[in-house]
Order: sequence, then C-alpha cells, then structure tokens
Amino acid sequence: MTRLLLLPGDGIGPEIVAATRIVLEAADLRFSLGLQMDEAEVGLAALSAAGTTFPEDVQQSAERADGIVLGPVSHNDYPPASEGGVNPSGLLRTRLDLYANVRPARTRPALPPPAGRAFDIVIFRENTEGFYADRNMAAGPGEFMPDSDMALAVRKITRRACARIAEAAFAAAMARPAKRVTAVHKANVLRLSDGLFLEETRRAASRYRDIHYDEVLVDAMTAHLVRAPGQFDVIVTTNMYGDILSDLAAELSGSLGLAASLNAGDSHAMAQAQHGSAPDIAGQNSANPAALIGSAALLLDWLGTRTEDPAPAEAAKAITGALEVCLADPARRTADLGGAAATSEMAEHVAVELGKGPAQRNESNG
Ligand code: ATP
Repeated sequence: MTRLLLLPGDGIGPEIVAATRIVLEAADLRFSLGLQMDEAEVGLAALSAAGTTFPEDVQQSAERADGIVLGPVSHNDYPPASEGGVNPSGLLRTRLDLYANVRPARTRPALPPPAGRAFDIVIFRENTEGFYADRNMAAGPGEFMPDSDMALAVRKITRRACARIAEAAFAAAMARPAKRVTAVHKANVLRLSDGLFLEETRRAASRYRDIHYDEVLVDAMTAHLVRAPGQFDVIVTTNMYGDILSDLAAELSGSLGLAASLNAGDSHAMAQAQHGSAPDIAGQNSANPAALIGSAALLLDWLGTRTEDPAPAEAAKAITGALEVCLADPARRTADLGGAAATSEMAEHVAVELGKGPAQRNESNG
C-alpha cells in the first residue's frame, strides 16, 4: 500500500487537487498501485476550523505518508503567525527536509511557445534556505526592521545545502540525453555566499566527468532563456534565483498552468504545482490542472526510485503520456491554452486516455 496525503489548499487548490485525484485513481486502477489517498485541510479552511493554517495533526499525517500532494496556498492573505497564519508550503519543505525543488519546463509541438523557441530543461532549485525568511532561521524570521525606515533580510547559504542540491542536479543530468548542468549564480557580487555555492557545484562537476558543466550569471540567464533556451538542459541554483527563473521558463513553455514541480528530500517528497492559488479564477472550474497532475506523476516517479516495483514509474510515464495527448487537443485542454475543457473535464479526459492502456496486475498490491 502507498499512502498519499492530499492537501487541497486555497483558491483553485481544491479544484486542481480533485482533478489530480481523478487521474491518480485511474492510474491506480490500471497499474494496481495500492494507493490509499487521505485528505486534510490546510490554509484558510483550516484556519476557520482549527485556528491555524497548518494544524499539527496534518504535520504528523505528512510525516507518515509515502507522498504528499499539496494544492497552492494563498499565504499572502493569511493573518500573522500569532493569529494562526503560517505558510504550509514553507513549513513542509523545511520540516520534511525537502531540499530539492525539481522544476521541469519544456515546449510541446502542439502548443506553440510564446517566444517561439523550443526547449526542454529541468531547474534544480535549493528549497530550504536562501533569502526565504520563513525557512532560513531556527527561530524567528530571517527578515527584520531595526527601525521603521530600515529593513534587513538574511540570505543563508550553507555548504551542506549547496552540496546536496548539486548532487541531485548532476545525478538527474546523468539520466538525460544532453548530460549538461549549468550553475546559475551571482558570485561576481555575492562572492562569499554564491562563491560557496559554486565551490560545491564545481566539486560535484569533478565527480561527474561525463557531464558538461558551465556557469552563468543569473541576470544573463534571463536573457539566455528568452533568446536561446534550447542550449540548456539541467540548471542548478539557489532558492530565489530558481523561483524566478522557473516561472520565466514555465511561461516560455506556454503557460504557468503547465508547470509541474516536485519537492524532494531523502525520505519524503511532495508534489506541488509551480503556480499560486490564482484567486482571480478560483471557483470557476476553469483552472488548468496539468501542472498538479504532472507534479503527481513526478511524485510517482520518485516513489518508483524507492522500490523494486516498476509500477509507480510506469504509472508516472503513462500519466505524462495521457496528459500530453489531452494537451494537444483543444477540446480536451483548458481555456488558458485556448481550449474548451473545464478543469474537471480535462481530468476526466486524462483519466480516460490513461485507461486505454493495458491493465497491469501487481501481485504485491492485489
Ligand atoms: P500567489 O501569490 O499565490 O502566487 P498570484 O495570483 O500572484 O498568486 P498565480 O496564482 O500563480 O499568482 O497566478 C498568476 C496568473 O496565472 C493569474 O492570472 C492566474 O489566473 C494564472 N494562473 C495560475 N495558475 C493557473 C492555472 N493552473 N490555470 C490557469 N491559469 C492560472
């Protein structure tokens, strides 16, 4: 049995998590994954019910789960921590030590890219420190005001975090045809912190001799991504640069609604779309569920690396294939991509497509 914890979150979260569940159920049926899916409230629904946006029992369920699917959260709308408003996404990333935020972005023949250039990249973004004030201190936030006219933000960069995101990026690049890693940094001004990051990416490069390694300044990288994204393969970088570059890459691939991501650690992983809670379209059944469905496929693939059983990895591949078929068809994709399907309809189409493959019995899961 594989226990998945589904956390619908805020805004469009409940709609795209429900859509993802439909697809996971279809994958379970075909591949006998033995999925047990439980749901729990986080975000504004939990604040009304339990007085906090991230109840302690959800943390415990997350620790016990084999994998987590987190919908987007509107943490900017939460009250201060003293009134129960904490960011579930940041807390899960630090408490479960989900240090690698894996963010693939690629263009598709059926969806002409806005900037007209084809590419297939994966961004490995460090996920537990950097400038992110909600996760870089043991106590208190990493941002503070000595007086009302001065604000300071602490950027934490550790050798350990740099070493493990570098290792994750190089290991992933080995499985890709281009075998290329680009470290993105600003070490010309942040000589110590980004310098430390580069020490560790270079150390990893010296271990992975088959990988072509290079380094690009983060400001130059935005121009390269727009002008010639096809030259990149795996990009490894610190937290905030990765956050910004991956939104750019997602948009260049066709829509933020396509952008899947996985938060992975050594013992836990969490599927989470790159986009936010999109309050402007919440409740309309119009959001594109592809990003979260794709993220769930990444989670199954990660689960597949932890077992001898080929079923989770095969299910991940089949979900991605079914998603591609639906994304190529205007009748089966959502309005952000010029399509006609509602969120729930697109999920049903992906499930039907997934069900067309041969059923695979898996004795260990019955
Ligand atoms: P947050 O602060 O939570 O990141 P935001 O509104 O700043 O929220 P997003 O929620 O990512 O950022 O939304 C940015 C834009 O992209 C909005 O216009 C939103 O409607 C659109 N968008 C985001 N996700 C999707 C999706 N899955 N399907 C369709 N449109 C989306």
